[in-house]
Amino acid sequence: MYDVLKSSYREISVQVPVRLDNGELRVFTGYRVQHNGARGPYKGGIRYHPTADLDEVRALASLMTWKTALVDVPFGGAKGGIAVDPMGMSPREVQTMTRRFTNAISHVIGVNRDIPAPDVNTNAQVMAWMMDAFSGRQGYTPAIVTGKPIELGGAPGREAATGRGVVYVLEAASHRWDINLTDCRVAIQGFGNVGSWAASVLHGMGVKVVALSDLHGGIYNANGLDVPSLLHLSVARRPLTEVGGCEVITNEELLECDCDILIPAALGDVITDRNAERIRAHTIVEAANHPTTTEADKILGDMGVRVIPDILANAGGVAGSYFEWAQNIQQFKWKEERFNQELRDVMIKAFDVTVEFAESRDVSMRRAAFAIGIERVAKAARMRGYV
Ligand code: NAD
Repeated sequence: MYDVLKSSYREISVQVPVRLDNGELRVFTGYRVQHNGARGPYKGGIRYHPTADLDEVRALASLMTWKTALVDVPFGGAKGGIAVDPMGMSPREVQTMTRRFTNAISHVIGVNRDIPAPDVNTNAQVMAWMMDAFSGRQGYTPAIVTGKPIELGGAPGREAATGRGVVYVLEAASHRWDINLTDCRVAIQGFGNVGSWAASVLHGMGVKVVALSDLHGGIYNANGLDVPSLLHLSVARRPLTEVGGCEVITNEELLECDCDILIPAALGDVITDRNAERIRAHTIVEAANHPTTTEADKILGDMGVRVIPDILANAGGVAGSYFEWAQNIQQFKWKEERFNQELRDVMIKAFDVTVEFAESRDVSMRRAAFAIGIERVAKAARMRGYV
């Protein structure tokens, strides 16, 4: 069973040639890794980032397997990406690249086989292009991707789901651990889809968001930032540091700033053995995937910092994707209130089962979350006769 669960079912690398607007031909490499499908179709996002490689995609695909099992949605785990920096590319170039990539992986994806979604540097528009490229061959297939625009079968609530789910889990933790959220100062690294929604929902609840950052750096205000007035910067992908009246900080300083709750919501491996000791937050909610290295996790554990692990904290995205996929398959639309209510139920149930496991066995939340996820996948794999 260990051998089955530690390796991927399928890993593919594909060539993605793109003719740039200036006539130059660039050949990018794209990846799709399907880690385990014992519990349902493979599911996971697509990221466009220069550091994307088979190893990273493979690790993220396995996290998806444990995450879908932990929140008990009927999916397996997958991840994909292209090693590219899309920032300097025109929309036409990104569209061409997306269509090429979709065609190149079209033989391994499918509504009941593997359903991609957005991740770092991809969004609803990228999903629309993927859906269109796939539908051109297979007929209208909205359920082939999730995180689509509402007009093409996307679900109202899905875009906010990961950030909102982070807040639902934090709320559940605050009840369990007697934390008064309105007394807390929150710092969030990353102001993209996940970070901006988490910040906005927290601000709406009257929680003080004291620090925010993006790729270019961060801003800090001990009295709290006016999150709604900053949201246009996230949408336009303009730097937060353009805003006046706040202290400008680096991304490293944000992680170590004076706050109670830290929410890493950008890239992985940002909390390491080099900075873990200087973290001042008493609670970390891992909105990003794998923000904490194994060494740092141990240091934080010794310091008594509570860490709500990624596969639990950011599972609102895949739970929301499940709602969107189910609606597409049924050709039925839910209201956003129903979406958010179902999301809250899924997240609270997953938090409760994890915290009960952790407390009853005296293990960390991370170990508990993995144990629950792995056990569920192993059970399904055994029943299907994999082992
Ligand atoms: P995004 O592209 O919308 O936003 C990423 C944010 O991180 C941006 O503000 C960007 O400026 C910032 N950033 C990029 N590089 C940085 C760096 N080197 N230092 C600091 N900040 C940097 O991406 P997203 O969808 O919000 O995803 C963020 C994280 O959440 C990722 O780890 C992703 O895997 C994870 N996640 C996303 C979803 C989802 O539904 N979008 C679901 C689960 C997990």
